[in-house]
Amino acid sequence: MKYYVNKNKQPNGDNEVHTLSCSWSPAEHNRVYLGDYASCAPAVARARQLGYNANGCAHCSSACHTS
Ligand SMILES: [Zn+2]
Repeated sequence: MKYYVNKNKQPNGDNEVHTLSCSWSPAEHNRVYLGDYASCAPAVARARQLGYNANGCAHCSSACHTS
């Protein structure tokens, strides 16, 4: 699964992590490609390495959605 992080923060300060196929996935110019992962956990970890306040999308990455 290809994962992206939204460059724009949510109102609560989170940068949401999405799969490419998620209907809530951000527009191309608003996202950063994280990599191809089997689950959301390494994708969120990668986004945090890049300095994003990453949290899984409630729809496509609910296992990583904590806030
Ligand atoms: Zn999503």
